[in-house]
Amino acid sequence: MATSQLIEDLQQALPDSRFVLRGSEGYDDLNKRYQSALNTEISPSCIFLPKSKDEVSTFLKHAGPRALSGEAPMAVYGAGCQPLPGCANVQDGITVNLSLLRGIDIEEGRVSIGAGERWGAVYEELGKKGLGVAGGRSAKSGIGGLALEGGLSFHSSRHGFVCDNVINYEVVLASGEIVNANAETNADLWRALRGGGNNFGVVTRFDFATFDQGPMYGGSVYYFAPSFPQQIRHLVDELQKPDASKDTHLMISTGYAAMFGPQMMCQNQVYHNHPEENPTVLQPFTSLSPQLDQLNSMRVLSLTESAKEQAGDSPVIQRSAYFNTTLKADASILQEAAEIYTAGLEPIKPCEGLICSMTLQPYARSLLEASAAKGGNSLGPSPDGGPLVSVLLLTYWSNKSDDAAVLGTMEKILEAIKSRAAAKGLLVPYTYMNYAFASQDPIGSYGAESKAELQRVSKRYDPEGLLQKGVPGGFKLFT
Ligand SMILES: Cc1cc2nc3c(=O)[nH]c(=O)nc-3n(C[C@H](O)[C@H](O)[C@H](O)COP(=O)(O)OP(=O)(O)OC[C@H]3O[C@@H](n4cnc5c(N)ncnc54)[C@H](O)[C@@H]3O)c2cc1C
Repeated sequence: MATSQLIEDLQQALPDSRFVLRGSEGYDDLNKRYQSALNTEISPSCIFLPKSKDEVSTFLKHAGPRALSGEAPMAVYGAGCQPLPGCANVQDGITVNLSLLRGIDIEEGRVSIGAGERWGAVYEELGKKGLGVAGGRSAKSGIGGLALEGGLSFHSSRHGFVCDNVINYEVVLASGEIVNANAETNADLWRALRGGGNNFGVVTRFDFATFDQGPMYGGSVYYFAPSFPQQIRHLVDELQKPDASKDTHLMISTGYAAMFGPQMMCQNQVYHNHPEENPTVLQPFTSLSPQLDQLNSMRVLSLTESAKEQAGDSPVIQRSAYFNTTLKADASILQEAAEIYTAGLEPIKPCEGLICSMTLQPYARSLLEASAAKGGNSLGPSPDGGPLVSVLLLTYWSNKSDDAAVLGTMEKILEAIKSRAAAKGLLVPYTYMNYAFASQDPIGSYGAESKAELQRVSKRYDPEGLLQKGVPGGFKLFT
């Protein structure tokens, strides 16, 4: 049976207005809401916009068998911020767009968030009560991708990955059954969801632990490439301290954009979770000279304002891709990575619209300890291996005709960094799912034990493998 027949059947079981068919009014607008043009050029037959968990359940009961047979594949869209092609959209299938599942309910010690919300709205609501949550750094970013794949937050050094802070997932399983997964109920599912991606069902609500949150100090500093090695040393020095701060969030980047001229430019995005102006711990990253003073945005600001500033950094829809790897917090290999990256970019610099960066983000020892203390996750890295540094290669470009050159170059750079690090014993077998491209294997990188457990949990909650075969996008468990 073709997708069109299935859609007709679904329209009998659910309100007509929930279905936006290809070619109809509103379709193009909805299908444009992805961070990367690699996803907007995928065109589903229909976009399904459920308004409740019960509608998601009804949908899965009807559509599941035909997705399983391959006749009408599905995708699940949170806010479309992950650039991986096809992770949240599906050619000629049905994309379940969760953006109408709203609601931010704050109770004692927790915030319950509908799967269609964005972090900016969550921070605004919590901010009214002097509260915060370890969520995404950008106001525009969605909840699901982060809460199911890991997630780096302004608060990760103290509170772990974003997923470590989820205390309950409300999930519609492949069968259509609606369950809660937390430390007491369906605990194996709860743990698997913390990093297991879209492999276990459609999550309709996420409950997060909250904490007191006042103003913070942070922003961006721009400077020139000759200072980058020193910034790497400062980053590693801070991470390697036995008493490294749990209140900082440090990101340092080197990158290229034609508008800045032929040379590499660098950016530090650094935060301290206290309102003190230019605290000692941030001074190595903020007081460097020379810098582009007019672009320095360091100031005391709220969590909401920090997330708005981060959202402002992302360009309008372009072709974009992420690649990543993880290295030990060692200045020599991080410096070599920067050199490999800088040299490796040369062949693609003429590509129209090229904006690219290599960002170093710590997985501080305290982050990994917080993960373990909060019940663990499926990701792999343990505190004894830390501190670690995520190396993210983020690239934007304009033309499809440059896809092969840009993606091929990034793969080459990544492999060169990994092989150099492996030779020095400084490569860590962890690939962050949110930042991974199709050629990478994040779930394999979690380790054999974690992957086997994810597969076991999948067989328990989705015995027929709907989320494996019927939802082909994203990183799957049985490859
Ligand atoms: C502007 C911007 C800011 C970012 N900020 C951060 C950051 O601070 N920290 C960080 O670590 N990363 C960040 N990223 C990367 C980010 O982690 C991913 O973009 C993240 O996956 C976005 O989540 P989303 O809900 O929009 O995901 P989508 O792109 O909609 O989906 C991503 C994957 O999650 C699945 N999924 C989403 N929601 C659900 C659900 N409810 N149930 C089941 N499956 C679901 C989808 O099927 C898909 O496979 C950012 C990206 C952008 C573009």
